Amino acid sequence: MSDYILVLDEGTTSTRAMLFASDGVLQASAQKDLSQHYPKGGWVEHDAAQIWAQTLACAREVIPAAGGAACIAAIGITNQRETVVAWDKATGEPLTRAIVWQDRRTEPLCAKLRDGGHEAEVQQRTGLLLDPYFSGTKMRWMMDNVPEVRAASEKGTLAFGTVESWLVFKLTGGQHISDASNASRTMLLELAGAQFDAGLCDLLGVPHEALPHVTDMSGDLGVTDASLFGRKIPITGLAGDQQSATIGQACLSPGETKATYGTGAFVLTNQGAVIPRSSNRLLGTILSQIGGERTYAIEGSVFVAGSLIQWLRDSLGIVETAAETEALARSLGDSGGVTVVPALAGLGAPHWRAEARGLISGLSFASGKAHVARAALEAMAHQTHDLATAFAADGTSWETLRIDGGMAANTWMAQDLANMLGIPVERPAFVETTALGAAMLAAAGAGLYSDLSQAAEAMAGNRTRFVPDLPDDVRQERLGRWKTALAAA
Ligand code: ADP
Repeated sequence: MSDYILVLDEGTTSTRAMLFASDGVLQASAQKDLSQHYPKGGWVEHDAAQIWAQTLACAREVIPAAGGAACIAAIGITNQRETVVAWDKATGEPLTRAIVWQDRRTEPLCAKLRDGGHEAEVQQRTGLLLDPYFSGTKMRWMMDNVPEVRAASEKGTLAFGTVESWLVFKLTGGQHISDASNASRTMLLELAGAQFDAGLCDLLGVPHEALPHVTDMSGDLGVTDASLFGRKIPITGLAGDQQSATIGQACLSPGETKATYGTGAFVLTNQGAVIPRSSNRLLGTILSQIGGERTYAIEGSVFVAGSLIQWLRDSLGIVETAAETEALARSLGDSGGVTVVPALAGLGAPHWRAEARGLISGLSFASGKAHVARAALEAMAHQTHDLATAFAADGTSWETLRIDGGMAANTWMAQDLANMLGIPVERPAFVETTALGAAMLAAAGAGLYSDLSQAAEAMAGNRTRFVPDLPDDVRQERLGRWKTALAAA
């Protein structure tokens, strides 16, 4: 039987290989932590050689569970987006460390472009804001600061790519491609453009010829070198992690929305074939491209979600495990007026205030750790409520919200989200939706299903539904308190 799907999930903190059966059930997985390098304040780097070595090792670890490479129909890849790898096409070796999505070193370059009046044009063409988060300015930084990168560019052997592009190059022995979802995070691809845009490359100072060819996200995208796994395996699915999670949540129709609560929180709403234009500082991005047909999404990212709970655990020591916050929250009828604004790393969408800082307000002698833990969880619903308001102002009202990510395990938080948003919240039984989305793309791309919606129907599994259950006056009181605290932050 050759219908297993091997998913390679290259996250920010770990590499995973996951083996799925064609009905979407996970059969086996392997995981290795990824080293984080912080050479200076605000700088975050990965070793691209380690990313490749671990991917190969994890894949080789799970393939025997399928009964060998001959039993694997296809590979799907999903990855941390925006991170830039530079390598030499001739040697296949990285030229410098990868600059990770979180890295802020290109803020001066972004400020210069903003001051030059380019933000409106960039937003209109790419759906993105002039922020160091995206890949383009990271590539430019490498050109300006890494002699090996510049030399390779002069020789014509430089390759730039995001992480899926790097992995495909290594897996196939030299194919240089990037899928449309990852490409749409570089600031070098127009939302309506088929390939990277020469004008945007000139604006950012990135050599167009070093960029990959932009491809579909499902279909015949490449074939692994036979020497790697003892047999060629087709690569038939590629997607950036948030797009993959949106597909894994089966948000395939316009208006369908998912929110992933991990370290940060990422909300995407399917916009169908309509190119999104936000007037509320949300991002427009490519959700899928199959057979050349695109769908788009509006995206809002919140910087601090689960990392707030980690901070309660590791810095304040008020819980020993993240999961304890649930029992603490349930032990109280309310937070006793305590409000947490999780701006520990500034505020992301829809506020975009890098200089904002976190605060805990409303403390009294009656406040204990349970109040702070509850207020921290309540902050997730408050932040999501602000996003819902911005999405609605852009013409996109949510009817239900499908949640996932490590924090979604917190059932109290899931109910609180439904209460504060005033809409049903759904949580899938299988919460690894990022990997599942790549499996769906790969399964459809390999022809195991006739199209992506068939794959999603067969592979998505059951969901638990949480319906709103909170008096409106309580809801309004909380939102009022949140607004006041937010202004102070
Ligand atoms: P990422 O993929 O960003 O590394 P995960 O999706 O694995 O993150 O989610 C882990 C985060 O979720 C951690 O920051 C952790 O603090 C938080 N978390 C995990 N379980 C719970 C829980 N039961 N309640 C609240 N937060 C949780």
